[in-house]
Amino acid sequence: MARKRILITGAAGFLGSHLCDRFIKEDYHVIGMDNLITGDLRNIEHLFKLENFEFYNHDVSKFVYVPGELHYILHFASPASPIDYLKIPIQTLKVGSLGTHNLLGLARSKKSRMLIASTSEVYGDPNVNPQPEEYWGNVNPVGPRGVYDEAKRFQEAITMAYHTFHGLETRIVRIFNTYGPRMRLNDGRVLPAFIGQALRGESLTMFGDGSQTRSFCYVDDLIEGIYRLLHSDYAQPMNIGNPDEITIRQFGEEIIKLTGTDQQLISLPLPTDDPKQRRPDITKARAILGWEPKVSRSEGLKITYEYFKSLPEKEIQHKDFTYYNKN
Ligand code: UDP
Repeated sequence: MARKRILITGAAGFLGSHLCDRFIKEDYHVIGMDNLITGDLRNIEHLFKLENFEFYNHDVSKFVYVPGELHYILHFASPASPIDYLKIPIQTLKVGSLGTHNLLGLARSKKSRMLIASTSEVYGDPNVNPQPEEYWGNVNPVGPRGVYDEAKRFQEAITMAYHTFHGLETRIVRIFNTYGPRMRLNDGRVLPAFIGQALRGESLTMFGDGSQTRSFCYVDDLIEGIYRLLHSDYAQPMNIGNPDEITIRQFGEEIIKLTGTDQQLISLPLPTDDPKQRRPDITKARAILGWEPKVSRSEGLKITYEYFKSLPEKEIQHKDFTYYNKN
């Protein structure tokens, strides 16, 4: 039987590359697409030798065309860390809005099923905890995170409109904080920041008093949830994340223990609109997909630490929040 063909945007990124691996493993023909602003070809270089993998270096904010049949489209192209949105706010807005529109058009012409990567950021700084999918959120449209949050909210809206108006098969995953190998060490997020600092023998920069919470999901668990959602018939947004909530201070202490660093946490000012609490309500994922996370934070952190440790020393030492390969 001919292989199913799937387009994955953001293929060279953290999640995109893990998705490529998963669909190759399931014997799909995988077409990766990325403009490599925040992505890194090293994440997928092992796939280039395969006959069922191809790659386009393309910005999906511009017209997208792919020859041949396309059964599925996964839209995972986007900057996804607060530092990235600050550095490239316009690209962030465009890939979530124009990029999504282009891909919906492609999906329509190819009769593909399209799954978009949304985010817990659609809930903003949430007033309810944990966040169920029915919660509408508390987002500041003009704050520094607005470029990401509003692009993602627009992305959900236009995807739902294509579903209801054009009858397109669509899926919306709301992704909560996820970590694992292939995260960028210098993307400014808390986990690579803390591990990078520990590896360089620096203090760990905790923002605010560290009482804000997050809930971290290991990447393999997330990919499994997305795989199941794609193959389900559920078109409403679905939270995928790990409900094991922890304060950033506790998290920092866990990293200090894990890495054995002799450094301590220091407190820096809390960024504007930093959400005070975040934890997914995964009742729907459990009921509809039979999914829940399997990897504990201690297990996942160990694997991730080993990955960061194995990076070239030059990269570990390169600590400013620039795109390492782009300098
Ligand atoms: N954070 C921190 N130190 C850092 C980077 C982040 O204390 O060096 C905090 C940040 O203020 C936030 C949490 O860690 O409360 C998670 O931040 P991240 O950028 O990883 O993702 P977010 O969940 O905010 O999108």
